[in-house]
Amino acid sequence: MVHNFFAGPAILPQKVLKGASDAIHSFADMGLSLLEISHRSDQFVAVMDKAEALTRELTGAGDDYAVLFLTGGASSQFYFTAMNLLGSDETACYVDTGTWSTKAIKEAKQFGNIHVAASSEDKGFSYLPKTFDIPSEAKYLHITSNNTIYGTQYQNMPDLDIPFVCDMSSDLFSKPIDINKYDVIYAGAQKNLGPAGVTLVIIKKEILGKVNRQIPTMLDYRTHINKGSMFNTPPAFPIYVSMLTMEWIKDLGGLEAMQKRNEEKANIIYGEIDRNPCFVGKAASEDRSRMNVTFLPTKEEYVAPFLAMCAENNCVGIKGHRSVGGFRASTYNAMEASSVQVLADTMKAFAQKHA
Ligand SMILES: *Cc1c(COP(=O)(O)O)cnc(C)c1O
Repeated sequence: MVHNFFAGPAILPQKVLKGASDAIHSFADMGLSLLEISHRSDQFVAVMDKAEALTRELTGAGDDYAVLFLTGGASSQFYFTAMNLLGSDETACYVDTGTWSTKAIKEAKQFGNIHVAASSEDKGFSYLPKTFDIPSEAKYLHITSNNTIYGTQYQNMPDLDIPFVCDMSSDLFSKPIDINKYDVIYAGAQKNLGPAGVTLVIIKKEILGKVNRQIPTMLDYRTHINKGSMFNTPPAFPIYVSMLTMEWIKDLGGLEAMQKRNEEKANIIYGEIDRNPCFVGKAASEDRSRMNVTFLPTKEEYVAPFLAMCAENNCVGIKGHRSVGGFRASTYNAMEASSVQVLADTMKAFAQKHA
């Protein structure tokens, strides 16, 4: 068995992979593959409906929110959100916690005044800011709940009286959500939900239609709301696989169960990092991510032999992001605690040999 610690595209539940592969061969007793049927067929419309219903059930999003399945990745949402929500003379706040939020800021600047309400750049994005400078006129606060590259995660979202626009690409569905805090939640599927190719967007409908600019049809959220994410051909296969993952989450007990599962895994791996003389955690302890565990070797010469030992023990995807170095183990929902234990045991064995 290979233990898949890749950061994204990333591990999916075996049951989901089986369901996805079955649907490629024959879908819904149609005698056809999911890949070769009309997105307007009753059978596929039922998939869209189910994916939306499961999203609502897991997040608690009511009728005042729209659930969209779009393309273009989370990266497109960096400009989508600002283009649809921010007037050119208005201000939005952004929390800069590393690569992805930095990119979100860059895109949003094309559409209005961007105020960086907090940043952790001073310490290489190794922690999360807890105080924020928010001008009273700010329309929303853009925040990244989990920083996939740096391995930081807000364990509790800050309590601020401003609507949140949140990039949840790498921790959506990893723990319960208080939907009322958010005007927009978006997530590329390929971290914790499904294959690359679909982006889940949950958006409060009443916030739309307030900016005074021409928005190209495909970039206007209202187009996709009015057409049930079928204005153009939706990414049918990624949506189907995401739907299967949501069913899997529900069957296992929903987001509370995911939280428990993810805490258990985090305890195993961070416990080992903290007691092992060969490794040190990268992120500030209180901000450690339960999805992307970043750690560094205490000696640079450990890097190559540790990666070799991981490979011997079938632990793959451990090399850190090129901008951070060291190691990263992503432990998304689908990963079993037993796989994390294999990695922890590998670290232990490494220390016995090298420390
Ligand atoms: C991966 C990632 C993105 C980029 O997602 P794409 O779907 O590749 O555009 C954005 N934000 C976060 C937090 C991510 O982890």
